[in-house]
Amino acid sequence: MLGKTKNTALPQGATIGILGGGQLGRMTALAAARLGYKYHIFCQSLDEPAAQIANNKTIAPFEDTNALKDFSKKVDMVTLEFENIPLSSYKYLESILEVRPNSHTLSISQDRVKEKNFISDLDIPVAPYRSVKTESDLNSMLAELGTPSILKTARMGYDGKGQVRIEKKSETKKAWNLSGACEATGGAILEGFIDFEKEISVIVGRSSNGDIVSYIPVQNIHKNHVLDKTIVPALITPEQVNYATQISRRLIESLNLIGLLAVEMFITKDGRLLVNEIAPRPHNSGHWTLDACTISQFDLLIRALCGLPLGSIKRNANATMKNLIGDDINDWQKYLLDPTAHLHIYGKSDIKAGRKMGHVTWLSSIN
Ligand code: AMP
Repeated sequence: MLGKTKNTALPQGATIGILGGGQLGRMTALAAARLGYKYHIFCQSLDEPAAQIANNKTIAPFEDTNALKDFSKKVDMVTLEFENIPLSSYKYLESILEVRPNSHTLSISQDRVKEKNFISDLDIPVAPYRSVKTESDLNSMLAELGTPSILKTARMGYDGKGQVRIEKKSETKKAWNLSGACEATGGAILEGFIDFEKEISVIVGRSSNGDIVSYIPVQNIHKNHVLDKTIVPALITPEQVNYATQISRRLIESLNLIGLLAVEMFITKDGRLLVNEIAPRPHNSGHWTLDACTISQFDLLIRALCGLPLGSIKRNANATMKNLIGDDINDWQKYLLDPTAHLHIYGKSDIKAGRKMGHVTWLSSIN
């Protein structure tokens, strides 16, 4: 078991428990194996990308306490690859063994209102926002923030799900219904619409002894609210690079997080940086690090989780990463003929619109 004392490295052959069976879990597991660790995937079906490559797995709902208890006996520490794990289940595991990130971080990243409060309490700029519990709240908050605004469910939203743009006051009822938000599930957040110039993200890693390393800021291009492309590095000013890096480091430190934090930001037309959201796990905008860096975001996560030195995350190339979404995957063979393309396929059996099926990274030399 991982010692609670600082700087205790997880011994070779120990088992990392991973909650979630998606592609992030799969790539985390491969990085664990590379460093001689075993992994045990807790997910919902045998067909999930991480379960496909795991000998040790638990297939059960995240609410199943008996399954969680059994899982905790088979692993030496626990991490997660997606954030919608019930907080009570995560806290239950935390009461038994080391979980990284800590449950405090998860409670913040699971709730968009808490998340924005946490970030703005650190005096880090965010879009104007209001907490919205009911439909009638929405009317008054919209009067305060104006239009256009974006309504997002406070909890369980991802890849644009549960998000509605409101253009006019008359659209509030429809927007509330479309967002699927309700009081019982924590309501929603209303955000002023930011007519941003660019979206960027920074991934930082932090070890158990407090060392922090950060990848260079990258630029993200979304299609239908889903990440389409990441361009490395982001074409931003040196001051913006410094500021984005500095706030990302402050955020991971303030959370006392051991592992990774991805920080998504908007750059406004007048050059200001606003944090949009944070994710305490590997991030889609960090997939380029697999092919362009000495230590990928998944390697870095394993090093941080296991109490190992973080090492040098040197970037060896510039990169463009493109997600293969839905039917895009049907063209996979063409990338095999492209000498600059690095193809990654997640092994999902059903192709669905909007579903991330794989990604391709193209490298070019750093001038
Ligand atoms: P999110 O789930 O918050 O990451 O939002 C998904 C995407 O929707 C972002 O990457 C942006 O492209 C867009 N978006 C979210 N919030 C806003 C906002 N307040 N103003 C403008 N665009 C937004």
